[in-house]
Amino acid sequence: MKKVSIIGGGIIGLCSAYYLAKEGHEVVIFDKSDMTDGCSYGNAGMIVPSHIIPLAQPGMIAQGIKWMFDSQSPFYVKPRLSADLMNWGLKFYKHANKQHVEKAMPALCNLSLLSKELYQDFVKENNSFFYENKGLLMLYKTDKTAEEIIHEGKVAECFGLKVDFLSKEDVAKLETGTSTNVTGGVHYKSDSHIYPQKFMQFIKEELTKLNVTIHNKTLVEDFVMKNNIVTEIITDMGPFTTDEVVLASGSWSPNIAKKLNRAISILPGKGYSFTLNDRNQKPSIPSILCEGKVAVTPMNNDIRFGGTMEITHTNDTKINKNRVQGIVNSINDFYPDLKIEMPKEEETWFGFRPCTPSGMPIITRDKKIKNLTLATGHSMMGLSLAPATGKIVSEIISGKTTTVNTQMFQL
Ligand SMILES: Cc1cc2nc3c(=O)[nH]c(=O)nc-3n(C[C@H](O)[C@H](O)[C@H](O)COP(=O)(O)OP(=O)(O)OC[C@H]3O[C@@H](n4cnc5c(N)ncnc54)[C@H](O)[C@@H]3O)c2cc1C
Repeated sequence: MKKVSIIGGGIIGLCSAYYLAKEGHEVVIFDKSDMTDGCSYGNAGMIVPSHIIPLAQPGMIAQGIKWMFDSQSPFYVKPRLSADLMNWGLKFYKHANKQHVEKAMPALCNLSLLSKELYQDFVKENNSFFYENKGLLMLYKTDKTAEEIIHEGKVAECFGLKVDFLSKEDVAKLETGTSTNVTGGVHYKSDSHIYPQKFMQFIKEELTKLNVTIHNKTLVEDFVMKNNIVTEIITDMGPFTTDEVVLASGSWSPNIAKKLNRAISILPGKGYSFTLNDRNQKPSIPSILCEGKVAVTPMNNDIRFGGTMEITHTNDTKINKNRVQGIVNSINDFYPDLKIEMPKEEETWFGFRPCTPSGMPIITRDKKIKNLTLATGHSMMGLSLAPATGKIVSEIISGKTTTVNTQMFQL
C-alpha cells in the first residue's frame, strides 16, 4: 500500500481520498484554505447525467460573443493580455465542433451514471446530505430556446436517459411549489441533487473514520523530484515525503503543475450563488432557467440560486452586482410569485469552476511524472462527477483497470 498525497480538499480531492483509503492506502490531504467555503460548497448541488454536451460545442463562440456585450448576461470572458487566456481560447475554438461533442457525450454519460450510482451507495451509509431524486427541469420561454432544449433532450434519450417533454400546462401540474411563467420544459428524470455543504461534511466524517489525515491551511509550494518521481511535497508547514501525488487543486491546478514543469490549461469560471433559508414557498423540483442559465435547487428547507460564468483569474474576487442582478431578474421572470430581492454582497457567494478548454475533466496518470495523477478541470460538473472521479483515481493508483474508459479524460 502507498502513501498518497492529495493536493486540494475540494470535492474531487475528498472523493479521491475516500476511495483510496477504502483500497487501504495511507492518504494525506493538503489544502491551503480552511475547507469550509470553496467552489465545492456553494454550488447548485445538481447531479446531472443529463449534461452530456460539453461547454465546447458548435455555436458556443458566437453565443459567447453576443453575451459579452450584455452586462447581465450569464457568460463573460474578462478581456486581458494573458498567454494563458489566449492559449485557452484557441484550444476552446478547436474543440467547439460536432466531432468533439460526439466523442465527449458517451464518455460524460458513462462517468455521470457511475457517479450517480456511487452517490446512491453513499446514501445507504446515511443521507445527511439530502440526496433527492426529483430530476431536473429545463424551463424555457422562447421558441428558439425550446428548439435547442428539446433537441438536447432527444439526444439524451438516445443515451438511455429518461426524459419527458412538457407543455406549459404539464410544467404547472408537475411544479406545485410555486407558479411558473414559461412556455414549456424538458424534465430529465435521471438527475438528482444534494446539499453540497452537507455532503462535504458527510465525506469529511467518512474520511475521519478511514484515518485520512487532513492538513488544512497548508499551502503546497513546491516539490522535490528524483528521476521524474515526486519524493517530497514542500508546504508552508514543512516538507512531507510521499509515494504518490494526486493533483486535485481545481482552478489553481495550472500554478501547481508549473512547479512540476507540466502545463495544464484551466481557467476559473467564476459563478455566483445565494441561498434563502426556511422558505415556505419555493419550487419543489430543481430547474435551470434556460434563457438566463440560472440554476435553482431546493435543498432541504432552503433554496439556492446560482449562475453566471465569468472566465477570469483566481485573484478576481470581486462580486459583479450586474451579473447577480441578472440572476435575480431571471428568477422573478420564471417564478413570478417568489418575488426574490437582490441579495446583499455578504450574502452572495462565489466560486471558481475549473474550466478546461475542451469542457472535459482531466482524470489520468501524468505522461511524464511517474507518480502523479491528475484529477481536475471538472468545470460545471465537479459535484456531479466527483465520486466517479475519486473511484477512477483510486483504480489508477492501485494499478487496476478503470471502471469506465478514460480515453476522453486525458491531458
Ligand atoms: C455557481 C456554481 C454552481 C455550480 N453548480 C454545480 C452543480 O450543480 N453540479 C456540479 O456538478 N457542479 C457544479 N458547479 C461546479 C463545481 O462546484 C466544481 O466543478 C467543483 O466544486 C470543483 O471541485 P474541485 O475539488 O475540483 O475544486 P475546488 O473545490 O476548487 O477545490 C480545490 C482545492 O484546492 C485547494 N488548493 C489550491 N491550490 C492549493 C495549494 N497550492 N496548496 C493547497 N491547496 C490548494 C483550494 O483551496 C481548494 O480547496 C458549480 C460551480 C459554481 C461556481
